[in-house]
Order: sequence, then C-alpha cells, then structure tokens
Amino acid sequence: MCPRIPRLFAGHLAPRFSCNCLLLEGANSLILVDTGLGLRDYQDPKRLGLLRHFFGFHMEERYAARHQIQNLGFSPDDVTDIVVTHLDRDHSGGIDDFPRATVHVTRKEFEAATSNRSISSLLRYPKNLELRSRKWNILDLNQDYDWKGFTGFAVPERLREKLCILNLSGHTAGHAGVLIREHRNMLLHVGDAIYHPNRLSLSRFQPKLLSLFEFFAHEDNASADHVVHRLRKAQKHARILCSHHDYETTAEHRNG
Ligand SMILES: [Zn+2]
Repeated sequence: MCPRIPRLFAGHLAPRFSCNCLLLEGANSLILVDTGLGLRDYQDPKRLGLLRHFFGFHMEERYAARHQIQNLGFSPDDVTDIVVTHLDRDHSGGIDDFPRATVHVTRKEFEAATSNRSISSLLRYPKNLELRSRKWNILDLNQDYDWKGFTGFAVPERLREKLCILNLSGHTAGHAGVLIREHRNMLLHVGDAIYHPNRLSLSRFQPKLLSLFEFFAHEDNASADHVVHRLRKAQKHARILCSHHDYETTAEHRNG
C-alpha cells in the first residue's frame, strides 16, 4: 500500500497542520490577518480540490475563524477589515464568512487570483474569488516606504496605526507580510514566505521533505530565497510568525 501523502507533508509541516490567523482589536474595528479555511470549506471539503489530499486538514467547523471569533464574544459583523498575506485557498477561504469586512490585498495577488487562469493558479486559488467580497481594497506599492530592506504598500489611514504591509513576493506573485506594532513590540506575520522557523536559522535545519515541498509551492524560488535572506536580518527587530507552524505545541513556543 502507498503511504498517504497527507501524512508525508503535514507531519513535517507541524505536529498539527494549522493556518495561523491574527485578530487585532482597534478602537472601532476588528482586523483579521488571513482567514484560514471558511465555513463552506469545512462543510464541503471537495471545494478545496487537490489541496485536501496534501495536508489532511482536520475538517471540523469549530476551527473556522468565524466560530473562533464568536467564541471570543464578537460577532462576525464586528470584523471591519481582513488583510490577506496572499489568496491561496487555505488563507482566503473564510473571506465570505465576514460579509461586512473590507478585504485588503496587493494588486499583483488579486490579478493573479482573478484573471490568471494558468494550471497553477487554478490549483491554488478559489474559484470566483472576486465574488466573495463586495469590498476589495487593492494595494499598490508605496515606493517611499522601507522597513529593514522591505518595500511596503500604501494602506488606508485607519489601518496604519496598527500595521504595515510589506512586499514578500516569491511564494506567490503578490505575497505580502503584515508587520504589527504593539507598543514597543513588533510582530511580523510572514504567511508562507517560510514554513518552519528553522528556515531563518543558519545552524538549524528544517526537515528535507519540507524543503522539497517549499520548492514546488513557491512560484518564484529566487525571489522567495531573497525574502528569506532579508528576514534573517529582520528577525532581530520583530518576532516572526509563519502560517503553518504549530507554535502552540512546539517547544520553542512553550519555552518562549
Ligand atoms: Zn498556506
């Protein structure tokens, strides 16, 4: 019998495959960074296409961001803004669970997900994605912005006090990172720019199978390597969080 692909990859990505989303509370706003899978994905996993065979997701609705936000005592309608690192299905599937939110995405990512019908874009992006929100805010580069060698995007003023959006293209054409300032601390959500924290270390290595997976998952490996090179320097200035590492059950989180 063949070993199941999900165990091969998911086991190396993390003890549990997760998609780390962040919820930021503003004075009159709730900002969600990435949505993870959506309710409709949990109810009908076939919507995920081939992706569901690779990762072996735990298809329980309670993991949906909408439910987790309700468990915190908020209404899904309280979410005013969604910032996506990119539009892969596992990061954007829940957009339509928050009908009042404006979705902020880089121009290149939106165009790749909605108008490029190459085989790879059909595999990675949800169908008819543009219909999932009535309010898209398409982000253009702000050439004057620089944070530790990363260019940034022009974000609306109401988001600016909480976060910056950085250009981390490589995993996808318009992949972005979200830099969050909380008092003196900085947190940088790098989406799928890396899959494992060891990718930013020169002395510790991520599992080889994961490196192989990364090679096929990134659209432009040269650009993705360039991002990693700059993230290694930037990690002195911000805590770095990637989407699919299980920080809750790994030693570095418990000890950190
Ligand atoms: Zn992902």
